[in-house]
Amino acid sequence: METKIIHPNNIKEAVDAIKRGELVSFPTETVYGLGADATNETAVKQVYLAKGRPSDNPLIVHISNKEQVNEFTNDIPEKAQQLMDAFWPGPLTLIFNLKDTSVLPSVVTGGLQTAAFRMPNNELTLQLIEQSNTVLVGPSANTSGLPSPTTAKHVYHDLNGKIFGVLDGGACQVGVESTVLDMTSVDGVPIILRPGAITKDQLSELIGDVQMDRHILSEGEAPKAPGMKYKHYSPNTPVIMINNQLNNWQEAIDFYRKIGKNVGILSSETTRKKLEDYTSFYKLSEIADVSEAMRHLFAGLRELDQPEKKIDVILAETFNEEDKGLAYMNRLKKAANQKFF
Ligand code: AMP
Ligand code: MG
Repeated sequence: METKIIHPNNIKEAVDAIKRGELVSFPTETVYGLGADATNETAVKQVYLAKGRPSDNPLIVHISNKEQVNEFTNDIPEKAQQLMDAFWPGPLTLIFNLKDTSVLPSVVTGGLQTAAFRMPNNELTLQLIEQSNTVLVGPSANTSGLPSPTTAKHVYHDLNGKIFGVLDGGACQVGVESTVLDMTSVDGVPIILRPGAITKDQLSELIGDVQMDRHILSEGEAPKAPGMKYKHYSPNTPVIMINNQLNNWQEAIDFYRKIGKNVGILSSETTRKKLEDYTSFYKLSEIADVSEAMRHLFAGLRELDQPEKKIDVILAETFNEEDKGLAYMNRLKKAANQKFF
């Protein structure tokens, strides 16, 4: 089966496929999701198969209006209601206790008593969910382990032949996955399980105390969110991070050139202008802007990973691990397997 690239005008084709229990990738503001009817266990199982995703890693349920969460939970704390009003639709996923475990198939929840919900900020996808008359799971539409897809072409590259189609909504604006916030902690203080474009400060400004899951800051320990323990976001070409304090780009380039390696540069234009003797360059941003770099990070990793580029090592620009830089570095460190030059 050749995977179809579906034009927004033909959204009905995508809706019908979802209703038949097939898989359709959809655009969101974060990354492309791999959509399947979350209430159809057989369809959800296909998602794990298509991605090669470990089956104990729960999925996010994508909804088309805020009221839909009430079908699954009757435990929405006041703080969560405030967050939903402020940030939905948007790149924030909230974890709630379920009414009971039968409201969603256990392939969606990983057998947990909780589930993760998000209302994506993409008009086309909100229509897809609404017209499908259900809610959709939507993990990133990539082969598990590779960088997440931010264009329909990325999805096609990874999943052609494995899914019905990709609803083409153009390039994603945010570029990294949603902030995941656990609203079920016993002491009532919400916990960030995955950093994203919505920062800890933005959340606390609205609802007070918010904790960062300690595994986000200290990599290598056993993680709480099931998905965090797996290899993630990595291209086949090795990635090495350049410490933004040391700024030792030229030293790194010279080192790899001496041992006969072709170097690919993933950085701002400002950084590139100071360098010489590299094989390829992908522009993350004009002047080291973290939001712009976040938008282009996965696309850049994929671009420099193309075999015809013959790149042996990708050198990547880093940011301070604060605010949005935390989300950017969370993804890049995994892509680079924690390696700095
Ligand atoms: P992905 O679908 O790849 O964007 O990943 C979703 C993230 O949310 C993964 O890190 C999951 O482990 C996490 N997640 C989803 N549901 C839950 C849940 N009920 N409890 C904790 N983490 C969850
Ligand atoms: Mg993913």
